[in-house]
Amino acid sequence: MKIHEYQGKELLKKFGVVVPRGVFCPTVDDAVKAAETLGGKVWVVKAQIHAGGRGKGGGVKVAKSLDEVREYASQILGMQLVTHQTGPAGQKVRRLLIEEGADIRKEYYVAALTDRASQKVVMMASSEGGMNIEEVAHATPEKILKAFIDPEDGLSDAQAAELATGIGVPAESVDRAIATLKGLYNCYMQTDASLAEINPLILEGNGNIKAIDAKFNFDSNALYRQPEIMAYRDLDEEDPDELEASKFDLSYISLDGNIGCLVNGAGLAMATMDTIKLFGAEPANFLDVGGGATTEKVTEAFQIMLRNPKVKGILVNIFGGIMRCDTIATGVVAAARETHLSVPLVVRMKGTNEDIGKQILGDSGLPIISADSMADAATKIVAAVS
Ligand code: GDP
Ligand code: MN
Repeated sequence: MKIHEYQGKELLKKFGVVVPRGVFCPTVDDAVKAAETLGGKVWVVKAQIHAGGRGKGGGVKVAKSLDEVREYASQILGMQLVTHQTGPAGQKVRRLLIEEGADIRKEYYVAALTDRASQKVVMMASSEGGMNIEEVAHATPEKILKAFIDPEDGLSDAQAAELATGIGVPAESVDRAIATLKGLYNCYMQTDASLAEINPLILEGNGNIKAIDAKFNFDSNALYRQPEIMAYRDLDEEDPDELEASKFDLSYISLDGNIGCLVNGAGLAMATMDTIKLFGAEPANFLDVGGGATTEKVTEAFQIMLRNPKVKGILVNIFGGIMRCDTIATGVVAAARETHLSVPLVVRMKGTNEDIGKQILGDSGLPIISADSMADAATKIVAAVS
């Protein structure tokens, strides 16, 4: 799960990271009022969406008067902000953050993330923070320093100091950078984040080290024990199909292909997607209906898949264990009728009550293509959509 920058900064602040004073604003009038209240001469108007690259897309503007705050806030609020992370359709801006301007002397990059290969937390830091960090990582990877941290030990002062001096933080600010790195690490650990990134982390003229951006990703499987993070969830920013699916307890992820897949069990769903690719086509989604798929759940799953105009065919691949094939077959038939299914449907089912299931599909009178093996199913659906 992702959160907004202003929420990320609230979290960082709790862990001792210095952030600019700022106010979350849902309207233009709120933005002007916030700037007045904050005082000073320079403010930053920032689009709040769950994607990075806002600066380059025109979603971050520095205002030098209250009139400019109003002008930029009106421009940004409601705009369809396109960044390299939103996809070509962009994301509608519904929320703003107004902050006091920062006195930027230098922009650094720091992040904590999970490194699966080493089974450790990796703290990354670079002297080349700002809006081109992806290019830095690509062209000059040696400019990104890494410290691997055993979660049993935590981030040591020595490791933090090495990173801070390694990216060129001046001596008089190193202690402040160490405190920031430790705050970031602790925040990452205690919130069950999988990514906590500050880009840029800045050095100000007075020697302060400040986080002027914050980006978080959280492990969804840990959200049950993170009510505070859960409360940050913003449904406006989530894929509407994925959201609808989660209401029915379906694990659904949108993908770019044209074959919708309805499968029970995450492992079988992955294998099904692999098989579709092996046979030269692309899956339109990952969809695990879980162990207890009812007719309603299957119907809902069909509706979600069919809402995607790219879907040219559906492959149902079910292993009947606890879930019986006849139950699924009844659900599939009902769902196909209710959704007036107009794309080819291939069904493969194996296991408990397989014969009864096949009978139900056959008796339905619907043009359902039956398949036996995974290869057979993939061959048939690929042929049907091409
Ligand atoms: P992102 O593009 O989505 O990562 O958004 P950021 O929050 O990182 O903002 C983009 C850029 O705007 C930063 O890299 C800064 O260079 C600039 N910026 C952000 N806040 C301030 C500020 O207070 N003053 C100035 N001068 N620039 C800022
Ligand atoms: Mn940034």
